[in-house]
Amino acid sequence: MKTSAADPLAHIPPLSERRLALRVTPDALRALRGGHPWLFDRAIVSQSGDGQPGDLAVIFDDRRRFVAIGLYDPTSPIRVRVLHHGAPEPIDRTWLHSRLSEAAAWRASLPENGTTGYRLVHGENDGLPGLVIDRYDDTLVVKLYSAAWVRWLARVRDVLDEVCPASRVVLRLSRDLLRQPQHLCDLADGTVLAGPRPEGAVLFTENGLRFEADVLRGQKTGFFLDQRDNRARVEKLAAGLRTLNVFAYSGGFSLYAARGGAPEVVSLDASAPALASAERNFALNHHLQPVAAARHTVLAADAFAALADLRGRGRRFDLVIVDPPAFAKQESEVRGAIEAYGRLTGLALGVLAPDGTLVMASCSSRVSAPVFFEAVNRAATETGRPLREIDRTGHPIDHPVRFPEGAYLKCLYATAP
Ligand code: SAH
Repeated sequence: MKTSAADPLAHIPPLSERRLALRVTPDALRALRGGHPWLFDRAIVSQSGDGQPGDLAVIFDDRRRFVAIGLYDPTSPIRVRVLHHGAPEPIDRTWLHSRLSEAAAWRASLPENGTTGYRLVHGENDGLPGLVIDRYDDTLVVKLYSAAWVRWLARVRDVLDEVCPASRVVLRLSRDLLRQPQHLCDLADGTVLAGPRPEGAVLFTENGLRFEADVLRGQKTGFFLDQRDNRARVEKLAAGLRTLNVFAYSGGFSLYAARGGAPEVVSLDASAPALASAERNFALNHHLQPVAAARHTVLAADAFAALADLRGRGRRFDLVIVDPPAFAKQESEVRGAIEAYGRLTGLALGVLAPDGTLVMASCSSRVSAPVFFEAVNRAATETGRPLREIDRTGHPIDHPVRFPEGAYLKCLYATAP
């Protein structure tokens, strides 16, 4: 993989040799020893000096024994993201190589099954907190959730070239990071770190279906890779069912429903560009007979208003999929999120034909699975259509869960009388 003449990382200051030494509260010590990847600012009792984002910080116990080492980030309340705990270990190129290799090996089965778009590195849950790497065929998208990774980027790119060679590497930055440009060393969201700049969307496959992803500007890194297993499940349910896909984005669930034999599929989303992408994704799969046979339409509207409107107009569907954005990004939003899940359940049931199938998903990590399932069931019962559950699902293999806060995705399958 060649980088262009002007390497966008050439001006990034080198990694510092400095190690910060930290002492922390007994509670934090216990959590770190238990493998938790986060140390919050409020849990730091003493610190050997000031640090820059990306410095390595070593956490010691009262007897000066090594507990953990991680990336220091003075810009975040998650002050240290732990890279390693237990016995001391150098955090060097070899270490990064083995972390990335392990992550790649864990996903080795996916490309064999017609999937070239998947998450290669899932942050904390792959031992690389704050770092997400998604693969879209021969394009890799590196997404940072902490300023601490900026000075590590050149090393990440180098090691990736060995572990998962690709023709292009694109950088994406989280919303929080974009709010702190002073720590980004002039890197912009969508900077191409290696290879040619993509002209338009990149193409990849998921379970044999073709999709495009706008890796430079699309939501997340261009596609919601975490719903692959739920989409495959929807395909199995969809034969003969008039299907409504609410919060459809680029039509992932819609295409699977069509391939599964849904005669009619409506993709509803507030984003017109996302729906245009859904239409292109249908066109990409027109060679598949059931996809060509399905009548696909898009509806650009607010989901809450549109569901009420469809109900009023007497539109009914046999399969309704509801996969909203994360409603609770912080603790203060949890109550509102639970209420919204209830409201959406009622609205979805309003357009669901008798004995139709409802698929309700949530990606809010702050709303736990039991609380979500209870909110959906309660709302359904209140509308007089208590759900008959088929299944509850969680994470796919490329989005492993290795600490409690890592569990965010849950999905309920049910029918309603
Ligand atoms: N189901 C999709 C992912 C959904 S992500 C998939 O499998 O790919 C959430 C989507 O909700 C985004 O596409 C966003 O544009 C859309 N959205 C957010 N708020 C909305 C609203 N109020 N009404 C309709 N769509 C909304």
